[in-house]
Amino acid sequence: MDEASRFVIASSEVETMAKNAKVSAVQLLPSLVPSAQALARPPISQYHVGAVGLGSSGRVFLGGNVEFPGVPLHQSIHAEQFLVTNAALHSEPHLPHLAVSSAPCGHCRQFLQELRSATRIEICITSSPPPPCHHDPKPMFKPISHFLPDRFGPDDLLHKDVPLILEPHHNGLAFWDHHSNVDVESSNGWVDLEGELGGAALEAANGSHAPYSGCPSGVAMMDSEGRVYKGSYMESAAYNPSLGPVQAALVAYIVGAGGDYGGIKRVVLVEKKDAVVRQEGMARLLLHSISPHCDFHVLTCVSSNNSRFDH
Ligand SMILES: [Zn+2]
Repeated sequence: MDEASRFVIASSEVETMAKNAKVSAVQLLPSLVPSAQALARPPISQYHVGAVGLGSSGRVFLGGNVEFPGVPLHQSIHAEQFLVTNAALHSEPHLPHLAVSSAPCGHCRQFLQELRSATRIEICITSSPPPPCHHDPKPMFKPISHFLPDRFGPDDLLHKDVPLILEPHHNGLAFWDHHSNVDVESSNGWVDLEGELGGAALEAANGSHAPYSGCPSGVAMMDSEGRVYKGSYMESAAYNPSLGPVQAALVAYIVGAGGDYGGIKRVVLVEKKDAVVRQEGMARLLLHSISPHCDFHVLTCVSSNNSRFDH
């Protein structure tokens, strides 16, 4: 089994598994949570959180919490964020049902608000036994509105036409002049703006969900075998649960390669010139901690549209 197949289960396989277990695909989710917990990387807490989601495509996505010793805790990736990033990576349009190993923390309840029709997404907490009066043996799913009743979210700040997480984004970023006007932080010859890594980071930035700051960004990583992993920055209406572009790319790396972070050899961050929200400092801090010998470059670009609270 390759790494990706541990994090994404094809719809045909989901159907077979559900049929064999004599349950629906939704009811199958709680049984997959231990597999998601096993994929978590929590060296600080040793607390393995697993999150599993059934996409509208019929595929199942897995996610686990990821912690990074040596940097502040807010750099951590929560299991639900991993799951959503994994689904975004595979162009899944929606995640209507989730199962998680323990109650979603406030941070994740907030982060999940960035999905369309968030209040109707249903969650099953596998560590919570059903109440004594609950005679139905089926796992209990409750809508997010149950977990976060008076929500603050995208509806408070954005027009309903602004794309949310898991919806296509076209941020209109471009390298305006490949040879003279693009800032390259520490050029040592290998960054080719027209090349694979710079282009991949730009693509990730163009898929970034940053409607609140208007500062989209993206990261592309290359491993020792030349494989590329992309991550798009994702903002939360409440700011703090936002997920950085390095974290998003690390989800792609963990899903695709699965190895030690030392396998990350080159990293490019693309963000807007003169952005009010910049990722570079945090990206450098995190990368220095997890893969101190990787080459890190920052490319700034211009935007043909300013998406801050627009439309
Ligand atoms: Zn959480």
